[in-house]
Amino acid sequence: MKRWSIHLFRVLGIRLELHVTFLLLVAWYLFSGWQDGGLEASSTRAISLLLIFTTVVLHELGHCMAARKYGIEVPRIVILPIGGMAQFSRMPREPRQEFVITAAGPAVNFAIVLLMLIAPFYEPALLLDTLEIRTHLDLLFLANLAMGLFNLLPVFPMDGGRLLRAVMASKLPYLTSTRIAFEIARVLAFVGMAFFLYHHHYLGVALLGFVFVAGRMEYHHIRDSEEIGDRTIGDAMRSHFLILPEDAKISDAARFDPGFEHFDFILTTAQGVPRGVVTLETVKAAMAVGLGDKLLDTQISTPVQNLQAEWPLRIYARGFRRQETLHPVLYNDRIVGVLDTRAFWEILKGRNRSV
Ligand SMILES: [Zn+2]
Repeated sequence: MKRWSIHLFRVLGIRLELHVTFLLLVAWYLFSGWQDGGLEASSTRAISLLLIFTTVVLHELGHCMAARKYGIEVPRIVILPIGGMAQFSRMPREPRQEFVITAAGPAVNFAIVLLMLIAPFYEPALLLDTLEIRTHLDLLFLANLAMGLFNLLPVFPMDGGRLLRAVMASKLPYLTSTRIAFEIARVLAFVGMAFFLYHHHYLGVALLGFVFVAGRMEYHHIRDSEEIGDRTIGDAMRSHFLILPEDAKISDAARFDPGFEHFDFILTTAQGVPRGVVTLETVKAAMAVGLGDKLLDTQISTPVQNLQAEWPLRIYARGFRRQETLHPVLYNDRIVGVLDTRAFWEILKGRNRSV
């Protein structure tokens, strides 16, 4: 994300960044305004954008200030076409904290709406007045009202969905609460997408699609980290393996019949440094197509990366599990096992993986 956003300035010590997709949207919006009505139209649009941008930033700052109260640091806020995203040093797991931090965003918007309502110079005539400044004030009013209300929709991970999870998590386990919040969000997101599609409102479809994907990712992340717990790589690795020299042939491996299914061959250099891993399945497949005379080494497709048995399994879940690579696992410089995605999923079995 970092490479795709531009640092604007710091606000209350937090880096404010614009995502390139947001800049593209701004450019397109201003350009189309200029095509429609020249400089005047595009400058009116620029002011409107600035007001909406300010509304989004204030909303995010609401979350950030509340988070800081609980000792959570906020290094940056990124502004995307779908709104803002504050990056927290840690996610609040305590339901009460999550509730307060989440509620603080829409609360800022409603506070602005309320302030405008009681301000002597402003009455929400809602775009009836032709004066331009009046139109901008109306926009500011509407943007805050809409942003406050829209974010309260119970579609996780939008604010409303997070509030719902926080309420549930005060009674139920955190993972269960997240799952229920995500299931509700899934139904609402698809109903909403069907509605927008019917009305040819494709931006709405894209927005809800994005919200759904973000919610799914967050739910999966929580589910995995709960299930991984404080397990180590050593807990998940397979420990049936045979060490062969790097000049071993495929037929050399095939001669060795372990008598059971999941078995690995680890190739090492003369100094005992792992060169890579080949599974028994791969050896059998290579033999079946007459590659017995080839070096086993030819079956290693990617550069090998060693893992340490004492490392937390979380490291593997975050960095490696999307790769179809087999990793030798070392402990005190000795090879003690092999880890791949299959071994990883086996340790997380006994769960519903359909979502
Ligand atoms: Zn928010």
